[in-house]
Order: sequence, then structure tokens, then C-alpha cells
Amino acid sequence: MINMKKCLSVLVLLMGSLTLSACGDDAAKPQSDSVQAPQQTFKWKLVTAWPKNFPGLGRAPETFAKNVERMSNGRLQIKVYGAGEIVPGFEVFDAVSQGTAEMGHAAAYYWKGKVPAAQLFTAIPFGMNATEMNGWFHYGGGMELWREVYKPFGIIPFAGGNTGVQLAGWFKKEINSIDDLKGLKMRIPGLGGEVLAKLGGVPVALTGGELFTSLQSGAIDATEWVGPYNDLAFGLYKAADYYYYTGWHEPGPALEFTVNEKAFNSLPDDLQAIIEIATRAVNQDMLDEYTAKNNEAMQSLLKKHNVDMRPFPDSVVAELKKASLAVMQEQAAADPMFAKVYKSYAEFQKGVTEYHRISEWEYYKNR
Ligand code: CA
Repeated sequence: MINMKKCLSVLVLLMGSLTLSACGDDAAKPQSDSVQAPQQTFKWKLVTAWPKNFPGLGRAPETFAKNVERMSNGRLQIKVYGAGEIVPGFEVFDAVSQGTAEMGHAAAYYWKGKVPAAQLFTAIPFGMNATEMNGWFHYGGGMELWREVYKPFGIIPFAGGNTGVQLAGWFKKEINSIDDLKGLKMRIPGLGGEVLAKLGGVPVALTGGELFTSLQSGAIDATEWVGPYNDLAFGLYKAADYYYYTGWHEPGPALEFTVNEKAFNSLPDDLQAIIEIATRAVNQDMLDEYTAKNNEAMQSLLKKHNVDMRPFPDSVVAELKKASLAVMQEQAAADPMFAKVYKSYAEFQKGVTEYHRISEWEYYKNR
């Protein structure tokens, strides 16, 4: 402990800056809990899985970095990099784990090959919507499980936004029955991809920036991405004729901020709090942005670009649902951590659905 009386007696206010002298060894070190020392500035890198400044997904980390710099009065400066600028989009997790970058912004289901349970923190087919996911993360035990799952990698996760219910995606041919999915090469990540594989399709992993050329060249037959706001930005309507809904595979996909644990622990308490609060703010802000922009973009797709938007036939949705439940059971049987997280998720979804049936759903029907 620093000797407060002695130390205060030698505090000299010199040219507007607080200078410490003759306080013994302790006084030379930054003291967060006693006398104010010159404050350290941190410069961090944040790598993302998105094209730089891409609407919604790419804007969120930029907003986050600006807010952090402002709230910390410049003591924590975070530079945001698009996919491929430092590391490719699919290497964000490793870069944060190894400390190549202090932070990342991506989607947890991209890491399914490394951590199967990670998929549950993005989206489950026929699972929870954005509001429900946020409830589970922050008041239903989801975040504690997420931290447990990432702990072995030296990463601390934070919820990093949500797009709301997505759409099923862009298809070069009509989907009239479940047989039309057989042999279909489709970009679809996470558990949705596992379901497609179960039904005879071929899921392909691609980051956003690769979608348009892959679809246009015919390297893939279909792709899901997000919804009108983002799909319009990529021009996907130029590469496929049919835009299907419902977003069975991603009903409320959550994005993630990841922070290297050592880097986080090196921050003083106030900067840690700023990161926590700034991620939480962006988590909500992204959903607000999609809520405001999706309809606008849909009108443009329909009226300006004459896109053929249509629902999957009921029989196709029913088969997707059946296959989804089977995939969830298989994945839980194969991985104990997946089973543990899925149990928490499924219990929360069951409870929240019962209430939302008489609140949200009843209201949607009636308004
Ligand atoms: Ca998606």
C-alpha cells in the first residue's frame, strides 16, 4: 500500500499535469485505487469477418471502437480491420486466441470445426429470435456457458449484435419439394449447413466477400446471407432468380465480440467496464439498424429489381424442421459441451416460447 499522507504531501501540480515524486517504489507504478498516476494509453487491433464498413455487420465494430475511444477519453484506441486485411475472416478466432489481435468481431458458428458448441451461440434452426437470444445470454445463463466454452482458448466473448430473423436465401432454381435440396451446393454455415447435409445437400463455407462471385459463376447453386439490407448491398439479386423465406436456419443469429483474455486483464477496471458497456450498446444498436433498414431494402428488391420473393412450401419447412431436431440430437450425443449448452438453450426456449405465445405472437396476429 502506498503511504497516502506522505505521498499527498509531495504531490506537485505542475503545468496542468499531476506529477508524483518521492513516494517510494510504489509511487512509480500506475495506481488505479489511490493517487492518480499518468494514465496509460492502449492501442488495440480488432479483426473482423466482414468487408470493411459493410452495412450492419461491418459498421458495428466501427461504432464500438468510436464509442470506446470517446468514453475512455482516448485511453483505449481500437483500430478495426476488414476480413483479409490482417487475417482472413475465418481466422478471426485464432488471431484473437493467439493475441495477433486483441479483439475480433465475427459469428461463433464459424468455429464449429474447432468448437462444436460455439454454434449454439449464433443460431439454432427453428430456435430463438433476437430478443430471446439476448434474454438467454444476459439473464438465462447463456453468457456464462459461452465464457466457459471459450475459456480454453484464452478468449472472452461478448454478444456483438443480432440481425433479427434472416431469410432462407438466394436460389438459382425453384424449391418445390424437399428433393430439390438433394445435391444442392449452398453456402450455409453452422447447424443449418448440417441440416442441409442431412437432407442430401452440400453445405459450403464461404465468407461474405466470396458470395457474389461464387453464386454468379455457378460454383454454388444457392446462398443464404442475412436479409434484404445486406443481400442488396452484395447485389445477390443479380446472381440468382429466387429469394426464399422463412429464415428457418437463422431465426435470430447473434454476432460476437471476442477479446483476448490476457489483453482484457491488462486493462484497468474502468476500461474493462467501457468494453462491457460498449459491446452491450452495439449489440442492441445492430438490431435497431436492421429493423429500420430491412423493409426499405426489401421494397427496393421488389420494386426496383423485380426480385421473385416467395416462401418455402409448407412441406419443405416441415421436413427441414424434422431434420433439424435430428441434427441437434446427433450433435448433442457427439459432444458433451454441446449437450450441456443445448440443454440450457432448449429449456430457455421452451419457457420463453410459452410466454411469447400469449404476448408477442398473439399481438402480431391481432395488430
Ligand atoms: Ca446468415
